[in-house]
Amino acid sequence: MKSPYHIYLDFNATTPVDPQVLEFMMPFFSEHFANASSKTHFEGRQAGETVEIARNQVASFLGAEPSEIIFTSGATESINLAIRGVAEAYKSKGRHIITWETEHKAVLDTCNFLEQSGYIITKLPVDREGLPDLELFKQALTEKTILVAVMLANNETGVIMPVNEISRISHAHGSLVFCDATQAAGKLRIDVNETCADLLSISAHKMYGPKGTGALFVRRKNPRVVIQPLIFGGGHENGMRAGTYNVPGIAGMGKACEVTAAGLWEDASRTSKLRTLLEQVITDNGLGYVNGSIRNRIPNTTNVCFPGIKASSLISSLPQIALATGSACTSALPSPSHVLRAMGLTESEAHASVRLSVGRITTLEEVNIAAEMIRNSVKKLKGIL
Ligand SMILES: *Cc1c(COP(=O)(O)O)cnc(C)c1O
Repeated sequence: MKSPYHIYLDFNATTPVDPQVLEFMMPFFSEHFANASSKTHFEGRQAGETVEIARNQVASFLGAEPSEIIFTSGATESINLAIRGVAEAYKSKGRHIITWETEHKAVLDTCNFLEQSGYIITKLPVDREGLPDLELFKQALTEKTILVAVMLANNETGVIMPVNEISRISHAHGSLVFCDATQAAGKLRIDVNETCADLLSISAHKMYGPKGTGALFVRRKNPRVVIQPLIFGGGHENGMRAGTYNVPGIAGMGKACEVTAAGLWEDASRTSKLRTLLEQVITDNGLGYVNGSIRNRIPNTTNVCFPGIKASSLISSLPQIALATGSACTSALPSPSHVLRAMGLTESEAHASVRLSVGRITTLEEVNIAAEMIRNSVKKLKGIL
């Protein structure tokens, strides 16, 4: 049962659709419903134009050209398309891919799949802060390295990876870079010419847009990146991703990019204040500590370890608050977070950690209430109350 004081602190798992985005999407369900690929009638051409307007909005959100944007069903598909697409297209050059142990499962599982078909995958470690060792990275590059896959912001800890430096090193070596920017989008300004990534993924539902729509940026010049498509059947998206356009979803994603870009600074400063307040109250007096780099992280996320307790007990003691252990995608499994384990936390430290992520609609009152409730529950579980 939903309590009257239900407080949602899991915006990294997904966000609500922004009211402006929802309003913008509505006419595309039943009024302007035509197939965006139908060129024989006005309605179809109008739907096609809607898709192109959204493509422009996504491109300008990323500092890219519209022709560099491919619409997909979400970041998981964008990630698969990027990694498998490059792996297939560049296999005559080499079959080596480098990534990090703290990447999202969509990246790691795609790499594991490629490993089974003969690719060599190097998964580099991170330090206790969740940050990479660039010397180790340089040593891992070989002339067979076709791709380096690195996330911009970690979904569990919020830690920001030095993607620009990793790109510089990779390019000097002749390797392409794919950046999973799904969790950074809407929290940091993203410019593909600053991150220097050759491919970059985002997802609408992580930035107040609808679920089921994402995009992949694929650089068209300096260098011109070639990928092999995953889905065939009709030549949509320049042959890169076939299937009837999800016009409401795509329109919503475009609008979400516009709304998010306009409010980026305000969202960042508001959420950062709320996150810091929440974090201070629940870690006060040595009750818990923050996992991951405090300096290099997105503004809305904190990951806190409460030594000696089980996060699952904390979560079940607080049914009014939506909290997460690890990421949504893996928390059905009892195994501890692969991200925290890679950062050197013991199994019990990882099991004692929770992720809290605030969002655009989080209020100060919610944070004050949640912080007190979490603090009291942790004290009870530790037997100090
Ligand atoms: C949510 C997320 C994904 C998966 O995105 P979907 O659109 O839900 O498939 C991938 N990477 C990161 C970092 C994420 O946070």
